[in-house]
Amino acid sequence: MSTIYELTCIACPMGCQIKTKVQQDKIISIKGNSCKRGELYAQDEIFRPMRVITSTVRVQGGVLPVVPVRTAEPIPKDKIGVALQEIACITVTAPVKFHQVIVPNIADTGVSVVASRPLAAKEGGEKTA
Ligand code: SF4
Repeated sequence: MSTIYELTCIACPMGCQIKTKVQQDKIISIKGNSCKRGELYAQDEIFRPMRVITSTVRVQGGVLPVVPVRTAEPIPKDKIGVALQEIACITVTAPVKFHQVIVPNIADTGVSVVASRPLAAKEGGEKTA
């Protein structure tokens, strides 16, 4: 039995509409991609989907109550739920530096969650971010 996957390639702005037929964990036909990158994209998206995730974490003593964060690299799509739960439990103390590691090895992926921007401490707290 085969399964049809229809994907929009995001490897470049062309956004080719790719149609694949998969049988026994193998792509047996692919149409719509204008180049080899589209085939590689379809392979990854069907068999090893990865995503960069973005969120926020609470900040203690900062000029704002939260700081935006993201994974330094894409992580497996099936780890996103666990990763977001871990991020939701974190509170950091200001100041926060740009790209500061907030969570090393999120969801056991080997990928760090880093701050997407610096955040200064409130007056009376530490001054540098
Ligand atoms: S298949 Fe090639 S040309 Fe089409 S969107 Fe993907 S990378 Fe771009």
